Amino acid sequence: MCAYECVAVGTGLKCLGNSELSPDGDVLFDSHAEVVCRRHFLTYLYNEMNLCLDSSSSVLRQSTPGRFKLAPGVEFHLYVSQAPCGDASMTCLDRSQSDDTRKANEEKKRRFISRRDEEISDESPANKRPKTEMHGADDSVSLAGPPTQSPSAPATQSMDQSDSVADVSPECAEPLVVSSANMVASGVLRGRDSYNLLGVLRTKPGRIDADSTNSLSCSDKIAKWMVVGLGGALVASLMDPIYLSTITIGAFYNHADAYRAFIDRLEGIVDLPPLYRVQVPEIFHSKVPFPFSRVAVTKNENTRPISADASIGWSSPSDDSEVTVCGRKQGFSAKKAKNNERARPSISKLSLFKLHQEVLSRVNPSAASSTSSQTYRQAKQANSEYQLAKSRLYVGRFAGWLICDPMYEAFKVEGSANTE
Ligand SMILES: [Zn+2]
Repeated sequence: MCAYECVAVGTGLKCLGNSELSPDGDVLFDSHAEVVCRRHFLTYLYNEMNLCLDSSSSVLRQSTPGRFKLAPGVEFHLYVSQAPCGDASMTCLDRSQSDDTRKANEEKKRRFISRRDEEISDESPANKRPKTEMHGADDSVSLAGPPTQSPSAPATQSMDQSDSVADVSPECAEPLVVSSANMVASGVLRGRDSYNLLGVLRTKPGRIDADSTNSLSCSDKIAKWMVVGLGGALVASLMDPIYLSTITIGAFYNHADAYRAFIDRLEGIVDLPPLYRVQVPEIFHSKVPFPFSRVAVTKNENTRPISADASIGWSSPSDDSEVTVCGRKQGFSAKKAKNNERARPSISKLSLFKLHQEVLSRVNPSAASSTSSQTYRQAKQANSEYQLAKSRLYVGRFAGWLICDPMYEAFKVEGSANTE
């Protein structure tokens, strides 16, 4: 008999713009629910490693001294209350827009692009934004071919495909010409632009007139986890890769979108290092209404909810959840958070780096000693197997993956923050 336990939770829909990022590893760049949940899951894993080393009850076992693997029969499942942003939600998003909303957004975008182009032409040559590298001539790029086929492949074991498979997304039989204004980089579309182009990388959606972001959509990040695992380079240096067995989606579910985003796009990825694989998750649709969705709250509370700036996360066995706003713990402005350890989220890069260092110092003190002099980026690069798996992913549809600027990973485990 199976027993299920919730081990991590995340909420949130905000993402920092490029001008708000911190080089100290102390701020969350991406606070979308899926990302927050996964980062709290990492804290859960580090805690499980410590429990295993303490010979306490844990879902982990030591495969070799100082290296961990999942105990037999343990699996992980992801539930999202609505289709993740990006490729897995494009069709439903498109259909959910009225003609009036669509026209208003197009007008807003036209004004924004016009204003931005004026600003660029006014900039001195030294200040001009770097040109995005793209293939093609003039101001457009052609992304050839239908991004992927509809799910003609064997259906996943969806609990409810009947209504969704019938709603298969429109075919993209012709190459689509995309204006460079919609592109962030070669092969990467901005947010919700060009709805009808499916299977491509997209940045986090956001207001067209907001500061742009280089954080990729949750659909793209989840797809990445299907190849390199949930752990990231640091966790993966301590344990075998962990994969999601299932993904269950609530609202805005479209089987073709989910299948394409999380399975079809990964076809052709080969030559992964030992222990890594292309995971094919089972995909389910839950029709159980999420009680805190915008639709449910509007209906049940007879009110018009507004989007929260805050993001909430939790992982087992903590007694408390953590609330962050603008990438910092709630209550700390950017000014108050500067060099203030208390403002740092427990799931920031620096916090997770410290958790990694604590476990490493228990299982391999000499390695921990050398890591303490490395930057976060160097520590991640040292996991050559993980880096090889990532390089195998960054081909085909994922070739345009946006890499984090090294300047944001140049901090060391002691960080630059001081306790006040
Ligand atoms: Zn998202």
